[in-house]
Amino acid sequence: GSGDIIDKFNEVLEKKDLKDSVQIVRTGCFGFCEQGPIVKFLPDNTFYVKVTENDVENIVEEHVIKGRRVKKLLYEEPENKEKLEESTQMPFYKKQVRMALRNAGAINPEDINEYIANDGYLALGKALKEMSRDEVIENLLESGLRGRGGGGFPSGLKWQFTKKAKGDKKYVVCNADEGDPGAFMDRSVLEGDPHSVIEGMALAGYAVGADEGIVYIRAEYPLAVQRLKTAINDAKEYGFLGENIFGTDFNFDIDIRLGAGAFVCGEETALMHSIEGYRGEPTTKPPFPANSGLWGKPTLINNVETLASVPLITLKGSEWFRKIGTEKSPGTKVFALAGAINNVGLVEVPMGTTLRDIVFEIGGGIRDNKAFKAVQTGGPSGGCIPSEYLDTPIDFDSLSAIGSMMGSGGMIVMDENSCMVDVSKFYLNFTVEESCGKCTPCRIGNVRLLEILERITSGRGTHKDLKSLEDLGSVIKDSSLCGLGQTAPNPILSTYHYFKDEYIAHVDDKS
Ligand code: SF4
Repeated sequence: GSGDIIDKFNEVLEKKDLKDSVQIVRTGCFGFCEQGPIVKFLPDNTFYVKVTENDVENIVEEHVIKGRRVKKLLYEEPENKEKLEESTQMPFYKKQVRMALRNAGAINPEDINEYIANDGYLALGKALKEMSRDEVIENLLESGLRGRGGGGFPSGLKWQFTKKAKGDKKYVVCNADEGDPGAFMDRSVLEGDPHSVIEGMALAGYAVGADEGIVYIRAEYPLAVQRLKTAINDAKEYGFLGENIFGTDFNFDIDIRLGAGAFVCGEETALMHSIEGYRGEPTTKPPFPANSGLWGKPTLINNVETLASVPLITLKGSEWFRKIGTEKSPGTKVFALAGAINNVGLVEVPMGTTLRDIVFEIGGGIRDNKAFKAVQTGGPSGGCIPSEYLDTPIDFDSLSAIGSMMGSGGMIVMDENSCMVDVSKFYLNFTVEESCGKCTPCRIGNVRLLEILERITSGRGTHKDLKSLEDLGSVIKDSSLCGLGQTAPNPILSTYHYFKDEYIAHVDDKS
């Protein structure tokens, strides 16, 4: 409803002859989806929540004309019912550190001048004027940035491999094919701050020696696509893309390719085949894209959040970046918080923040005062984490150690009423639908797994079925061709590990 609210503000301000005194800026996502639509007033930072069209007259009358805050639209702290005026006072924002989301909700993503006014394209200028290509890569290596798309591979190493690879032509690809159920991190970065990704891609192009970039983005993200197109055109007009950028001999341009929404196209090799016009099916690695990628040329593939972080690291240096997060996973991570939680939304926290802090402080705890049961991280490739691990500091390694994974940042919270067998069936259903069908373990094995789960959840399962879940799950993991199949059994295996009693109850109780 934000669009209607903006229209209403325009109408009321016009009527009251205040159009020249108040500027209305349409921003990207504030992150606090649970409290939307949000209207923020500057310079006094007033944060109005759950605003409707009907509130607009009152806001203009009270806030704009009389200079008084509208109390009933301020966020109410659930514990002591105190009305909080600014976002910085709210538990939802207090523990967040916004790097990839630094400009989301703060600037107009369709106005390049607002990005520039917030140090935009300064990193690109610094790199082109003051740093060699090796220095840009060295800085990224020292920063310890790891790929935010899920794998956690050191980004600097990927850049170094692509730079060293021989080729008369190289590409930089931004993987914006976000497809995990419940995940909308990349979408929000692109909708809220598309220039940060463009600048990250240009920096990557300079460092690895590429003159062409491609953003592969799913067509289901029309607003992100539209803002990206506007941003690319503006960047060209301002000379941040195109030929002789910043008066140097560096040329770099960016094109957009729309994906049709196949989950498997987020896998690097499938993504490249799709860009080349072939069916989006994975192939074995090696060769790795850094050596032989798009049309056989060296190709650097990074995810949206990774690229959005690069300008900051280039501008402020690796030491600054390393001060945030943990030793092995520096920096921050964006998570899409969803499920049975009070504060559904998009959050960015330093690596090493505990699950408890995310669920109970930032997320405001479980809906309807129910008990926490588990949190699912890593999407259909990840696992469910039970309450005994709530104090685990989240980073790439600690999540793997407890049977889940960071993934791209989906985080779905479950309460005491959730059936964990149903949860695993939901995710497996998703992977069965999304399997490209190329290899047998994934194409057929996952369907058999799903049949077993259906038997169990409909009361026809046996103890032998439980044993088959484990056996078949580990065979599929070991023998599938790509990451989709290799991780598809994870939700089953992790829920079976932590909530075995629920599986047993399903087969014991046939009533
Ligand atoms: Fe396709 Fe699944 Fe095999 Fe991957 S594992 S290649 S998605 S069939």
